[in-house]
Amino acid sequence: MAAISDCSGKVVIIGAGIGGVTLAALLSSSGVKCDIYEQRTTFSEDGFGLNIQPEAVSVLYRLGLADKLNSCGIQTRVHRYVDHSGNLLFEEVRGIEAGFDTPQVSISRSELHNLIFSNVKTNAAFHFGKKFSTDTLCQAEWAKNLIVGADGIHSAMRQNLFPDSMQLNSGTMTLWRGMTPMPKFLDGRTMIIANGDDGIRLIAYPVSKPHDLRGESLINWVLLVPISLDKPFDITTHRVQATNFLLGLIKDWHFDWLNLQTLISTSKTLMRTSMVDRNPLDKWSHDQCVLIGDAAHPMFPIGANGATQSIIDAGTLATAICESPDFKTAIAKFEQIRIPAVSRIVKANREMNLRELASQALSPQERVQELVITTANYKAETTRTN
Ligand SMILES: Cc1cc2nc3c(=O)[nH]c(=O)nc-3n(C[C@H](O)[C@H](O)[C@H](O)COP(=O)(O)OP(=O)(O)OC[C@H]3O[C@@H](n4cnc5c(N)ncnc54)[C@H](O)[C@@H]3O)c2cc1C
Repeated sequence: MAAISDCSGKVVIIGAGIGGVTLAALLSSSGVKCDIYEQRTTFSEDGFGLNIQPEAVSVLYRLGLADKLNSCGIQTRVHRYVDHSGNLLFEEVRGIEAGFDTPQVSISRSELHNLIFSNVKTNAAFHFGKKFSTDTLCQAEWAKNLIVGADGIHSAMRQNLFPDSMQLNSGTMTLWRGMTPMPKFLDGRTMIIANGDDGIRLIAYPVSKPHDLRGESLINWVLLVPISLDKPFDITTHRVQATNFLLGLIKDWHFDWLNLQTLISTSKTLMRTSMVDRNPLDKWSHDQCVLIGDAAHPMFPIGANGATQSIIDAGTLATAICESPDFKTAIAKFEQIRIPAVSRIVKANREMNLRELASQALSPQERVQELVITTANYKAETTRTN
């Protein structure tokens, strides 16, 4: 990428999450100056695993991260849908095996964050422990610079630009997350998606190559619990009760190839979040301010697409900045490419959530057919380029 030629200002990024750091790494390696404000005093080690889909992996490859990603994460081969006894319902191959040029990578969030950060060049100045607010910059700086709101789901920038767009839409599920090392399960490159009859779903996948090389799987798991069945334990004060509650929810589940009781009870930390998104916007910018990632388009974590879309946003915006004569043109190009594509994904995630819930009333055979259709529709919607 050529560096932007006649923009006198710099890029100011608010939020050093996955999207913000990717943008900083891409811009700084192209010689574009940026300032990054992060409210935390250091990178958080919080968080568990996530998935990066092939298109976002190619953005990370642009940063020269291919070998590092391969030596840290797992190249996911297949999504395997099973019932609560572990019986196979349907498999969907992914990544390289599905014909993409790059893999789908499952990796721990903090590891990914650190990998991307290690590629940020000195053109980027990080200000940790600085919560950005509108008076952080003076009037002249607002006019001169490009301000990027990469400040996540509770975005102050979005609140500022689009105050009427903050309503959260509930997916009527709570997500409980954990991560723990276990003996290697299946081929070590499989994500499982298990459905119970009562709306409970378990997603589990390995995220660490070093564990894999030792014959283990560091398994990231997410238990999706309908809010009608959930109990809002405070995990810091009622950790044991929370674990027992989760074990109770799946007490009738048994897989021959993965001990679910051990998986949940040996996870050192738990995280509990609500499944929420916001209605897609038809504009992510105002003047020279633009939103990316969860700030622009929070989505249900159903299609493993949240981090992926923030990385693709960063890649697209960095290219637009480097190839455009001025910031406003760059923003327009970025929005034209990304808004329709991501709005479809937000809606596709809602649709997939509803269909997976509804499929629990079907016979096993009908359920398999439904899974085939749902996953094919999802793939078509989320990989469409026009
Ligand atoms: C600590 C943490 C742990 C997570 N763990 C998981 C996980 O285990 N699995 C998963 O799938 N997803 C997880 N996520 C969400 C996931 O990272 C995002 O959905 C996705 O990567 C989109 O990234 P983003 O850059 O848009 O937002 P985020 O990654 O959420 O980053 C937003 C950043 O902005 C900062 N910020 C917010 N407001 C301000 C402000 N006013 N001034 C300065 N900085 C600000 C936040 O501290 C944060 O670092 C986690 C997010 C966080 C912040």
